[in-house]
Amino acid sequence: MPRPIVAQIDRSALTHNLDVVQQLTHGARTWAVIKADAYGHGIHAAMQAFSHADGLALIEIENAIRLRDLGWKKPILLLEGCYSSLDWHAAAEHRLSCVIHCDEQLSEFEAMPLSRKVDVFLKFNTGMNRLGFRIDRARDIVTRLTLHAGTGDITLMTHFARADERDGHLEALKLFNEGTAGLPFARSVANSAACFDFDRVASDAPTGAGNDSVRPGIMLYGATPFTHATKSAASLKLQPAMTLLTEIIGVQSLKAGDAVGYGGTYVATKNERIAVVAAGYADGYPRHAPTGTPVLVAGSRTRLVGRVSMDKITVDITDIPLARVGTLVELWGAQLAVDEVANAAGTIGYELLTAVGSRVPRRIV
Ligand SMILES: *Cc1c(COP(=O)(O)O)cnc(C)c1O
Repeated sequence: MPRPIVAQIDRSALTHNLDVVQQLTHGARTWAVIKADAYGHGIHAAMQAFSHADGLALIEIENAIRLRDLGWKKPILLLEGCYSSLDWHAAAEHRLSCVIHCDEQLSEFEAMPLSRKVDVFLKFNTGMNRLGFRIDRARDIVTRLTLHAGTGDITLMTHFARADERDGHLEALKLFNEGTAGLPFARSVANSAACFDFDRVASDAPTGAGNDSVRPGIMLYGATPFTHATKSAASLKLQPAMTLLTEIIGVQSLKAGDAVGYGGTYVATKNERIAVVAAGYADGYPRHAPTGTPVLVAGSRTRLVGRVSMDKITVDITDIPLARVGTLVELWGAQLAVDEVANAAGTIGYELLTAVGSRVPRRIV
């Protein structure tokens, strides 16, 4: 018997969430972001669920090539572009669209004799200060690119640092719009959070600008892009795509004063029943999740107690008398929002989903 932990992937939830994007953005061109193995869900399942997206966007060129091998014929966008001349040749061969975000990439592209034109996403820095050209260089760089024979379609792009905050993207959007005014190219600015404000993003575009394409990631997987509790995934009409399921593999009966787990950080205050559950930080369950983090046992909500170890967690089942070895445990998913677990553990849904370990089998339903 394999260990009981499994990440169940609900393909219809993925498809539903993409439909939500397309409603919010009135059918704007949509790049479904599937970096980090589709946020932990597996790129093959994601490719099938997102067959009606206009393109797939990711970071890892080896997965981009795998998508071609799996039969994906529509566009693929490399969100950090190419790291070497080998990548540029592979990008041309496999028809990958590439971000260019710095002078080094730009010069390498210009110097490269390529078999085909490459579609370019020129990335501008509007306050994140990670990747991207200064926005006041937009005109010069666009001119340079249009003179280069290897350049296919050009899209002007930025990535917001604060779209998850109320109106947090407006200043960056203004900078981007001013810096790109008069440039008649397609644009791509919206991540998941900004998709929820797409009407303004689109209507603020300078006259003459080309159409917007959007780059939703986390929302496709049914988790919220926002940090404030009023904008839960459920309230945004998103459906959780991953349910992390496991089972009880042992039960302990404690007396007042008995401690649980490494360091004895949890001490029973009365007679308590504790379930030992097959999941630990090596599966991607966050080690810093404290006592009190929600867990579902046989559909009843209870709490983690004691320290998370590599392969096991301990859960209070004092009030769930039917729980025994073999009882089903949901760590997050259909009945328990991943964002709630993340919040208890001081992190975000993105981290929990992408950290699910390679030893956890994905089961597509
Ligand atoms: C990851 C990423 C996205 C998607 O962001 P979400 O917050 O998950 O929607 C969009 N654009 C770029 C450039 C990214 O790296």
